[in-house]
Order: sequence, then C-alpha cells, then structure tokens
Amino acid sequence: ALTDKLSRLVKEMRGQARITESNVQDMLREVRMALLEADVALPVVRDFIARVKEKALGQEVLGSLKPGQTLVSIVNKELAATMGEGVADINLQAQPPAVILMAGLQGAGKTTTTAKLAKHLIERRKKKVLTVSGDVYRPAAIEQLKTVTQQAGAEWFPSTPDQKPLDIANAALDYAKKHYFDVLLVDTAGRLAIDEVLMTEIQQLHSALKPVETLFVVDAMQGQDAINTAKAFKEALPLTGIVLTKLDGDSRGGAALSVRQITGAPIKFAGVSEKIDGLEVFDAERHAQRVLGMGDIVALVEQVSKGVDLQAAQKMAEKIKSGDGFDLNDFLGQLQQMKQMGGLSTLMDKLPSELAGKAGQVDMDKAEREVRRKEGIICSMTPFERSKPELIKATRKKRIAAGAGVQVQEVNRLLNEFGQMQQMMKKMKGGGLMKMMKKMGG
Ligand code: GDP
Ligand code: MG
Repeated sequence: ALTDKLSRLVKEMRGQARITESNVQDMLREVRMALLEADVALPVVRDFIARVKEKALGQEVLGSLKPGQTLVSIVNKELAATMGEGVADINLQAQPPAVILMAGLQGAGKTTTTAKLAKHLIERRKKKVLTVSGDVYRPAAIEQLKTVTQQAGAEWFPSTPDQKPLDIANAALDYAKKHYFDVLLVDTAGRLAIDEVLMTEIQQLHSALKPVETLFVVDAMQGQDAINTAKAFKEALPLTGIVLTKLDGDSRGGAALSVRQITGAPIKFAGVSEKIDGLEVFDAERHAQRVLGMGDIVALVEQVSKGVDLQAAQKMAEKIKSGDGFDLNDFLGQLQQMKQMGGLSTLMDKLPSELAGKAGQVDMDKAEREVRRKEGIICSMTPFERSKPELIKATRKKRIAAGAGVQVQEVNRLLNEFGQMQQMMKKMKGGGLMKMMKKMGG
C-alpha cells in the first residue's frame, strides 16, 4: 500500500526537470510515514527529512532520471549514510587481551551476542577467546553464558552470584592475561529499565577493564523506546559500537536509525537468529531499504534508469495475474526485460533480502545462459507461432531448431516448460514471482 503510493508519486513526478518545494512535499510526506511506521523515533525522523529536503531541493535531475526517482535515490542514500557506511568490524587494536564490554537492557540479546561474537572472532579472526558473566543477579544467566560459550567453541571463565561483578571482571582479566587470550568478552547484568545502580556498576566495570569496544546491544523490535535506552547508555558509557538484534523478526528495524543517530556509534553487527551463527556484519544499504519498506522502489528507480519500459512491465504483470492469454511473445518479452535489467543476478540483488535468500540456491550463470538460449529459440519462431504455441508441430519445430542452431529436443523442452508455466500462472495468479523465475532459469 505504502509502496504503491510511493511508486505512483514517482510516476506523477515524471517530466519535471527539477526537484522543487511543491513537487517534493507529497513524496517526503510518504517517506516520513514510512519511517514512523518503521518505528524510527519522531525527532530522528524530523531531522532526517530536513536533511533530505535540503539535499534534494533544487537538485538538477540528471540524465533520464525524473525528479521522483532522483528523490528516492537521495532518500535511500541518505538513510544508508545515516546508518553508517562501509563495514565496521570489531576493533581489536589493544594490548591483548582486547576487552569487549557488552551493555544493554535485559533481554536485548547480550548473552547470546557474546557467544555469537566469540564464534565470529574465533572463526573469522582466528582469536583465542574467553567469556565471563558479570550478571550476578540471575544465576541462570551465568549458566546460560557457559552453555552458549561452549557452543561457540570459546573458553568460559566461572563466576558465581555471591561475587561482586568488579571482582569477577578483574579475575577474568588476570586469567586472560596469564593464559594469553586475545580477547575477553564481558557479559553484563540485564536491566529491565534504566537503573541507576546498575548503570553505576557498568561504569565501574568500564573504568576497571578499559575495554577497546563497548558494545550497546539493542533489540530491533524495541521501536520508539530505543531512543531513551540509547540516550541513557550513551550518557553512562563511551559506546564504540552497536549490535542490533532480532532483525529476523518482522520489525522494519527503524530502531537502527534512532540508535545510530543518538549514540553516534557505528552499527557493527546484526543478530538474525537465536542460534549461535545468527550474526551478520551490518549492511546499511540493505537495511535502509528494509526501513523504508521500499526495496522494490529503489530497484524500480534503477530499472527505469536502465531503460526498462515500465508500462510494458505493468501490462505483463497484469497478464500474469490474470493468467489469460499469456503466450510466447510475453515469455520473450519477459526474458528481454530481464536482460535489460542487467540479468537475473542483478535482479536478485535488488530483491528484498528475504526473497533473495530463497533465490540464493539458483546458479545464476547457468540460469542466464539458459535464458539466452530460450530467447534464441523463441526469436526463431514466426509471430503466429509465438501466439499459438500449441500449433507448433514437427515440421515447424525442425525449422525453428535449425534457425536457432539447437536440437529439436531443446525446442520441445522449451515448449513443455512454457506449457507448464502457463498452467502455473493460471493457478498462482500473481505473488509467485520467485517460483516463476526459478522455472525460467531452468
Ligand atoms: P540478555 O538478557 O541481553 O542477555 O539477552 P539474551 O541473550 O538472554 O537474549 C534474550 C532472548 O532473545 C533469548 O531468548 C535469545 O535467544 C533471543 N535472541 C537474542 N538475539 C536474537 C536474535 O538475533 N534473533 C532472535 N530471533 N532471537 C534472539
Ligand atoms: Mg544475559
């Protein structure tokens, strides 16, 4: 719904040479709605919109792009830039052991992330890693860290609820030094809300340990509230990075924008499952599209700028939806559009990540070669044959095969496949783009 609206606005703004106060208003209102819907905090949204507007106003619209399209790309770029650009991995530049202090509310995912990071540092950076829990308020929390640390293949330093967190931390640091650990990960007590006592405690831990990284772990589903949490932690600690957890949930992840803006710290990792390997390096560009909920709009802009005929694509989509009259001409049109958009693999890159993941198993090079062969075969048919594939019998098949430089069997295969596809389209009536593309890829 939202994206429909945006894409309509993109179209309405065609034919104007420059972004102006009047044509930008509607568009920005939609962007603002999208951000609020994604739970970006209001002051952050205001700021962001103001920046985009300033960047956009008066901007010359270059090449074949239209103002609306230019604006979409400005919004997307600014969003990605706000959330950080490039890759920000863990900083280990310290006299070993490099200490990493985990901070955040209870349930944010600190303990889970501690183990995920341990695994990451062991596997990717070949480090010797020790973990320790300073969460003396919940005995189960210490056990939890022990379990997940073992899963990660790291070593766990024992602690008990009757100890003081500071003593635990110092003992662990001492042990890590004596046993030549590269990294010491310090998990801390959860806070359900901002709590003075606990804040003081983690500040003391920070002064004693002098961590090279102080990571703020925040639940992506926390929404509007994330801004207050982030403020409190930023005031208490010099944060060096953010880990955004539970991005596998269905939130749009607007918290990323708020938290990043408030703390000024880079978002380094994203938690994408409760499992120990569910940690990814944060990708700001991809996340920008998720927050705006307009992966398709950005792709659309890129496609338009590459000269894909939108109206033709629209017509095609309608035909596919109804399943009526889909013939080989349409099939050919689809193949050609796909090529214009830069081939199957670039198209995959533009899909929202959930979809792209599902498509990841397809061998793209092979799929693209197949597409070209199919195109060759259809091009060797007469327009009549293309509109009535069912009338293509032996003699015609031989002629087509010779024209395309392939065996008759390949023509048969294409016709079979087309038949199946026609059937499938009748059944699915839209919504099954991936299935269809897989099918076309052979
Ligand atoms: P802590 O209180 O900050 O230590 O949080 P925990 O590490 O105990 O995590 C709280 C809950 O969130 C647990 O049930 C975790 O399994 C879950 N969790 C943490 N990170 C993720 C994530 O990235 N994705 C999902 N789906 N669950 C997560
Ligand atoms: Mg914990």
